[in-house]
Amino acid sequence: MAKRMLSEFESYDLLKQYGVPVPEHAIVKTVAEAGKMADKIGFPVVMKIHSPQIVHKSDAGGVIVSISSKQAAEEAFNKIVANAKAYNPEAEIKGVIVEQQAAPGLELIIGGKTDPAFGKVLTFGMGGTLVELMKDVTLRILPVSEEEIRVMVREIHGYPMIQGYRGSKPRDEETLVQVMWAINRFFAENTNVVEFDINPVRLYESGACIVDARIFIDDEAVEKTAKERPFVPIEYFTPRSIAVIGASSEPKKMGYAVMHNLLHFPGQLYPVNNKRPEVQGLKAYPSILDIPNPVDMAVITVPAKHVPSVIEECGQKGVSMVVIITAGFKEMGEGGKALEDRVLEIAKGYGTRIVGPNCLGLIVPPKGIDTTYVHESPKPGNIAFISQSGAIVNTVVDWSIRQDIGFSAVISVGNQADLNFIDFLRFVERDPKTKGIILYIEEIQDGKTFMKVVSEVSKTKPVVAIKSGSSAKGQAAASSHTGSLSGSYDVYMEAFRESGVIPVHTLTGTFQVAEMLSLPKGYPRGKRAVVITNAGGFAVLSSDYAERYGIDLINLPPKVLKELNDLLPDFWNKNNPIDLLGDANEKRFEQTFSVLAKHQDCWDIAFVVGFPNLVIGSEQLANQIIRFSEKTENMIVSTLLGGGSMDRGRKVLKENGIPLFDELDFTFRVMGRILWQRFR
Ligand code: ADP
Ligand code: MG
Repeated sequence: MAKRMLSEFESYDLLKQYGVPVPEHAIVKTVAEAGKMADKIGFPVVMKIHSPQIVHKSDAGGVIVSISSKQAAEEAFNKIVANAKAYNPEAEIKGVIVEQQAAPGLELIIGGKTDPAFGKVLTFGMGGTLVELMKDVTLRILPVSEEEIRVMVREIHGYPMIQGYRGSKPRDEETLVQVMWAINRFFAENTNVVEFDINPVRLYESGACIVDARIFIDDEAVEKTAKERPFVPIEYFTPRSIAVIGASSEPKKMGYAVMHNLLHFPGQLYPVNNKRPEVQGLKAYPSILDIPNPVDMAVITVPAKHVPSVIEECGQKGVSMVVIITAGFKEMGEGGKALEDRVLEIAKGYGTRIVGPNCLGLIVPPKGIDTTYVHESPKPGNIAFISQSGAIVNTVVDWSIRQDIGFSAVISVGNQADLNFIDFLRFVERDPKTKGIILYIEEIQDGKTFMKVVSEVSKTKPVVAIKSGSSAKGQAAASSHTGSLSGSYDVYMEAFRESGVIPVHTLTGTFQVAEMLSLPKGYPRGKRAVVITNAGGFAVLSSDYAERYGIDLINLPPKVLKELNDLLPDFWNKNNPIDLLGDANEKRFEQTFSVLAKHQDCWDIAFVVGFPNLVIGSEQLANQIIRFSEKTENMIVSTLLGGGSMDRGRKVLKENGIPLFDELDFTFRVMGRILWQRFR
């Protein structure tokens, strides 16, 4: 059976079992019953239409409030039924609900939905009729602890309304937490409940009451749990011999470019081509089976229809991993999907693993492996880049060469018929060369497993992700507020936060974050920051950026102020950012850094901002920054602003592993993303 909505009546009864406060209520089918029941419940009462076809009851004229007499209740019954019939003549009218009228209170929304990748998600926010307008909601992926529920309550913008705002009394936060906790249990335990919203929940100075509930159930709902398979042996990614099937000598062909990029491979390279005895100076074989020696990896560039027979031969040859560059599979619809399934089936029979199809394959620069057709192979380094887009791999690799960024691995995942994000994450986690990991994600199939794995990986290596699709329009025809209030992008962001992944919005930003975190000091220990500069203008800009990107600039403790007063000119700003003034020489920087190092327990991050001037050269400043960094466990982040005149200082800092930026906005933005992940 497909998704269907429970009636308000059924919803109330279900929630009541979990201890959720619901108004006293009953269903009546006649005018006389309506009057009697209203009298029994006690005035005032609210009456509402009860029809499976009417989702938004007010829109149908199906809700009348403040009914204060038996006669008014009888009239309301007729009116509601007439309105509902006029609104939707087809609607089946099962009766009218008579319920106790709850007192006005602060209106909140508690909702739940099922995300295609991550499963059940609990949401909370400001409720009432303006929910979509205010969009003040927060969410968590189930399971959610009571402690997390307390955090959710406090993190919405409207929280001051709960605490008591401008003279209004504080509301019953504890009851709210208990109601959310009960609703969370209800959601977790009823596997067929796929979506709901309770709007409004009215919160009082003492107690709470829900006055509406929409619950959707689906008998086919599947529970999502993390499931992992054994790691792919790391040797599979570092073959000693590679065959290129479809290798070509014609420069415009893919088989040419792939072969060309592999010419530097230090192991054995075998072109396979059934029409030529030689390809790009190497002896070619008509089939992989004709190669006299063992082959560890095969790269396949032949047209899709030939791939099954080629895989069959690779299997017979004992190839451990094939990289299928060829497109024309699942991404092409039904027929392509069938072909992909066949290829997978054949490979499975031999225990051969597949990268792709429809991908660029992989590059392992420290091992001289490049199965792609990128213009120029990237340099070796310590960043692993795993991407769901081939074009982005091409772009990033091209850009990295000029930026002097190197990689431990670059992987284009393609259709992920066999090996997927999770297998590749496990590879780079174990790869000793990889110090930082960058992911480009369009969509994740199995969110629960992804979260489990990436949580583990991010404990040992920083994981940075750029996720496309933040602009996705609200889910089509969302039937609940919850469905339209938080889109799938928000769920991804929450999944990232929970599992230690740092989301970044730009490609350049991902590299800045990954590079900074792969330096010796790694993550900052806390979020308390100080800024030290000799430029008044940048002191002010630093404050602006810090505020914009959520970085706490501390108030300098009296003991620090006192020691700085003793060594700085009388008219220094006595504040954080610490402005050492334009005439600050090397000694003034050194003394200030010493004071801060001595009191390193008062702060966690020091931003040092320098600009081109004659009093202190960039190299002198850089040397002081290095010494400062040596004197403290805390993180020192340098920003040397200006052009070529600062290059010497930049070079020294880079060589010494000090985080370095040349644009002040980036400095704070990058740190803001890191702190959001760690200390939100
Ligand atoms: P719908 O959302 O389907 O239009 P509701 O059941 O939410 O219908 O009723 C509309 C509004 O009527 C609610 O948002 C609330 O302001 C008010 N209301 C409904 N039931 C009660 C009740 N039991 N006590 C007080 N007010 C109520
Ligand atoms: Mg409502």
